[in-house]
Formats: sequence, C-alpha cells, structure tokens
Amino acid sequence: MYRLLLVREGEAALKGKNRSSFERRLLDNITMALRPFTEARVYRSDGRVLVDVGGHPWEEIAQAVSRVFGVVSLSPVRVAGHDLEDIENAAVDLMEQVVKKAEAGGGSANQPLTFKVEARRAFKGYPLTSPDISRRLGGAVLARVPGLRVDVHEPQVELAVEVRPEEVYLFAERIPGPGGLPVGVSGRAMLLLSGGIDSPVAGWMTMKRGVQVEAVHFDSYPFTSERSRRKVEQLADILGPFEGGMTLHVVHFTDVQKAIRMHCPEPFYVTIMRRMMVRIAERIAARRRALALVTGESLGQVASQTLESMVAINEVATLPILRPLVAWDKVEIIRLARSIGTYETSIQPYEDCCTIFTPRNPSTRPRLDQVHRAEEKLDVEALTRDAADRVESATFGRNWSPAGSMDGAY
Ligand code: ATP
Ligand code: MG
Repeated sequence: MYRLLLVREGEAALKGKNRSSFERRLLDNITMALRPFTEARVYRSDGRVLVDVGGHPWEEIAQAVSRVFGVVSLSPVRVAGHDLEDIENAAVDLMEQVVKKAEAGGGSANQPLTFKVEARRAFKGYPLTSPDISRRLGGAVLARVPGLRVDVHEPQVELAVEVRPEEVYLFAERIPGPGGLPVGVSGRAMLLLSGGIDSPVAGWMTMKRGVQVEAVHFDSYPFTSERSRRKVEQLADILGPFEGGMTLHVVHFTDVQKAIRMHCPEPFYVTIMRRMMVRIAERIAARRRALALVTGESLGQVASQTLESMVAINEVATLPILRPLVAWDKVEIIRLARSIGTYETSIQPYEDCCTIFTPRNPSTRPRLDQVHRAEEKLDVEALTRDAADRVESATFGRNWSPAGSMDGAY
C-alpha cells in the first residue's frame, strides 16, 4: 500500500561545500543500502529525498534505509490523485492504520489519539488552499475513523499532506534513522575491535560522524577458540550494513603475546600488549590510508584504563587515537549497544586475548620510563612487521538482512 518512502536528512546546519558533498554521499549510501532490492531506487524531487520501493516490502526497505547515517527519519508515503475524494480516502485509510498500530502498541483504547492535518501546497495551481485542505481532510478523518481527536497544538500524530503537480503525498508514521553524517564524508579510520561490548559501539559512533571504519582484530588462536574469532566476525556483520560493509583485518597475535610473556615483566603485560596492538594497527592503517585509530576505551572502566595507561599507549602512536566512549558510563554504552544490535553478540562468553593474558598484579599507572625498561628485550620492530604482514582481511555485512535485524531506535 506504500509506494514511496520519504527520507529526512540531518545536519541541516551544514553549509557550502560540506552540504553538497553530504547530499551526494547520502544518496550514494542509500543506493548502496538498497542493493538487495533490485527494483527500488532513491531520487531527489522538489527538495525531498524519496525512495520508490519498486514493489518490495516497504518495511524491509525502511529497515535498510534506517541504517544509513545522515538519515534522521523516514515515513512511508501514500500516493493519491488530485481528486479530493481520492485524497480523503487515502487519508482515512492511512489514519486507520495509524490507530490500529497505536492500539497494538499498547495505546489505551478509550483514550483517543490526538492528531492534526498539516497540508502543504507545493503545486500552487491546486484549487484549494492549504488550510482548506487541512480542514476538509481533518473533518473526513474525524467522521470516518474512530478513536481520534483533533489537537492542533500538541498532536500525537501529524498527518502531512503534500500537494504536488502530479499527485498528492500523505504520510504520518515516522521511523527513526541514526542521524549523523553519511559514511565516507570524513575519511577512513581503523577500529581496534575486540569481542567486547565497547569497541563495536565506539566504531558505530565513529561511523556516525561520517568516517568509513575498518576493523583490526588481534586473534590469539589457539589460546582462544575459533568461536571467539567468529564472534568478532558476527560483530562486523552487524556493523557492516551501517557503512555498506565492514572490512575486518585479523592479526595473528599469538607470537607477539608469547614474546611478551618471555621477555617482559608481568605487571606490564597489558600495557605492552596495547602498545603492540597500536603499532601493528598503524601499519595496517598506513596501508589502507586510514587517518586515525579508534578504541572502545572508557576512562576508569577497568583498572587498566587510566590516563597513565593512555599516555603509554599514545606514545607509540603517530595517528590520533579516537576514544568516543572515554567519558561514557557502562549503562549508557550498554543501552546503545542494544539498539545498534551488537549487545547480544558481545556478551557471548568466549574468552578473548586479554582475559587469558591478565597478570596477577597489573601496573595500572605505568610510568613511561618503567615501560621503556620493561620493553627493552622485545624485538618490537620484527614482531610488528611479522604480525602486520600476516593479516587476513575480508568484508562483512555488505547488505542489511532481515535475519540480523533489531528494533533500532538510536
Ligand atoms: P571492549 O568491550 O571493547 O572489549 P574492554 O572494556 O574489554 O573493551 P580492554 O580490554 O581494556 O577494554 O580493551 C580496550 C580496547 O582495546 C578495546 O575497546 C579495543 O578497542 C581494544 N582491544 C582489546 N582487545 C582487542 C583485540 N583482541 N583486538 C582488537 N582490539 C582490542
Ligand atoms: Mg574487552
């Protein structure tokens, strides 16, 4: 019954060159999200971004488009002819659906839903004015759809009516999108992706600012199982549709960990391991022309996430390290992880490289001179090079699929 989706874009404050590259990229990214739907297409018309669903189920297309950054919200559109009776029938039909959905969603059956009609006459040749149209349609809907009441000030539902030269669009339902900037307008970054809760969220937030995110995972097979690697691939599968596919680089980290265990004092294992991760990730970033690293670190969350530790980690980095969660509480991170859809996968109980490598008395506030001494016997250059040269790369989650879907209100 819906032939079109109307897409609202965000960041209206963007100006000049930024704005036009934003708009172009947004359309490209929506086109990419529509890949599985061969008959659907996106286009611009009269300042609106519209998706023609091309006979596919509109709900699935809405789900795919609601994962595109830069989309603030979308609405399924009923299309009617210019004939007033035609418009009235469409309005009644649409509002019946809205009432049905509200009741199904727990709305109280004896509390009427409040609404108003907001008409816009983009086609000035139409014989009725906008207020006339609003009044006529409001009257028709009120007379024919039970469970509604008009409230022009704070309606729960706004029925929008747009009179265009060829036809009339009607829409009321709003499906939230993730907002932010279209992926690709801000360059590329390399996310250190563990199997935990935090790093997938950090990656998602970075994408939201328009960054194409690739991931590096440090795999400790056979200390860790195949399944813990599969879990990280699943996370990339979930994050992928937000950016048209996430490339994951898996680094074999076991030799590095063995060398650390052999040559370094135990309290510094974690700090040195993080420094090695950063060095290796930077090599991969250089190859992929990424301009920053991203981690899921959050200050104070675990004993090793201190400012001192960040100093020790940053010392070996030449690229900026983005830490989007640095000031976030765990509950906030978990809430976002749930709505992105990564949480359930993140809490699967497979061990990761850090849990099997935790010293009994870690140095949580490492001083640089101590770290330098602790690292002295490690052949940093050879270990970094060897690990960075043996990377397995693949792209995950190119397309959104209904199987991996969740509710999604960000
Ligand atoms: P997360 O929930 O993201 O695993 P965490 O709270 O477990 O984070 P740490 O174990 O201290 O925190 O890891 C800090 C950050 O280091 C992670 O957010 C991630 O960016 C990176 N990291 C840790 N382990 C790995 C790994 N095996 N591969 C890639 N990156 C990792
Ligand atoms: Mg972790």
